[in-house]
Amino acid sequence: MSPRRATLRGAERTSIDGDAADVLVCGASFAGLALARELAGLGHDVLLLDRYEIGERQTSACAVPTPWLDALGIHEARRSELPHMSFTTPHGSARYRLPWTWTSFDYRTLCHELWDQCGDARFVTAKVQGRTRTADGHVVHTDRGDVSAPIVVDAMGWRRTLATPHYQPPDAPLSRGLEVHPDVDPATQDDALDCWIDRSVIPRGYAWRVPAGGESRVGVGSYDPHDHVKAPTQEVARRLDVDAVRYQGNWFPHRLRPAAEDGVFFCGDSAGHCIPVSGEGIRTAFLFGIAAAREIAKVLDGAQTRDEALVAYAAFSKTRAAFFRRLLLLQRVMPRIPPRLLTLGFKLVSPQPVVDRAFGWYLAAADAEMALRDRPVRRASAPAIAAD
Ligand SMILES: Cc1cc2nc3c(=O)[nH]c(=O)nc-3n(C[C@H](O)[C@H](O)[C@H](O)COP(=O)(O)OP(=O)(O)OC[C@H]3O[C@@H](n4cnc5c(N)ncnc54)[C@H](O)[C@@H]3O)c2cc1C
Repeated sequence: MSPRRATLRGAERTSIDGDAADVLVCGASFAGLALARELAGLGHDVLLLDRYEIGERQTSACAVPTPWLDALGIHEARRSELPHMSFTTPHGSARYRLPWTWTSFDYRTLCHELWDQCGDARFVTAKVQGRTRTADGHVVHTDRGDVSAPIVVDAMGWRRTLATPHYQPPDAPLSRGLEVHPDVDPATQDDALDCWIDRSVIPRGYAWRVPAGGESRVGVGSYDPHDHVKAPTQEVARRLDVDAVRYQGNWFPHRLRPAAEDGVFFCGDSAGHCIPVSGEGIRTAFLFGIAAAREIAKVLDGAQTRDEALVAYAAFSKTRAAFFRRLLLLQRVMPRIPPRLLTLGFKLVSPQPVVDRAFGWYLAAADAEMALRDRPVRRASAPAIAAD
């Protein structure tokens, strides 16, 4: 197979029926792009599919710990660096200086910066509808035809499209979020990521404001998928005196799911790799996309079979299971803590050594170190892929 880049657009949306690749990555957002970037230069045919053009649909406030942007070589997309976080309840407020910083970014630019690092990978817009397992891999069915590959990745977000059954809200372990993106004067922006826990706004969840250059990203997340978030988001925008404009939102998982199932790799939200309580899922999508790519690279290199890679990747995902479990417990408990006690708790965390320890632990569960070390050796020739 000769690697080539072929981004099909608009009128070029011809049939892709019968196309084949060594690695088929379904979903070209955080997890899918991190995975494809990791496989760049290995001499194999990597094909990404997404229903939208790369970077077209932002569904997040796009704040990530800055070390991840450094590790991935992302520069242009950065908007605001935020060294502080504040937590406010109706009874008081606490403001922390973190041992690391958040950086908000522009989604489209970040996706294009990642895509620029994906080497000869190909990208095609197509809506994935399902898959059939074959003797040597999978046939993935799309609205533009069938594509086959020995290695298939589901990086399509919370729905887990390539598994059966899919996740369907509201009766699924999903949270939901909605935000507005009003323009603001950058000079008036604070250097903090602000959180509000106010049950009169959202009974089980929180509200946030993420400064991003000349834009403010103001939203509400609910841990209970039955609770609506539009009116709460409008209420928070009203309280902050910003326009409720440019809405965007999505569901996001809060419980870990199997990272490998029926021969498919699941990365990012499709595997539940979104941190409970915070709903932070970008750096974990990067982390697990890279981890899956590392195992896939060994298959492409002839060093292990595809089935061995699936087992190793699932085991890596499980190394973070205790972290996800603890935060899911906190997510369940937090809405039941009396508000005054919660406020006291935020104040008790305020001393700098406590902040450093708590947020250091939180970062360490998915730190950027892995993105920097042990990248697969880039090579031109491609050994055969062993299925089992
Ligand atoms: C309102 C809101 C704010 C958030 N803010 C933050 C934040 O600030 N920081 C943070 O870390 N996390 C945040 N999150 C969570 C974060 O957005 C997700 O965890 C993250 O996007 C997961 O990345 P992913 O690559 O796994 O999936 P996604 O980003 O959801 O990407 C899935 C991709 O698959 C494509 N796709 C889906 N279905 C199909 C199909 N059938 N066929 C083809 N393509 C398909 C989609 O078009 C998309 O490109 C937020 C979530 C919400 C809802």
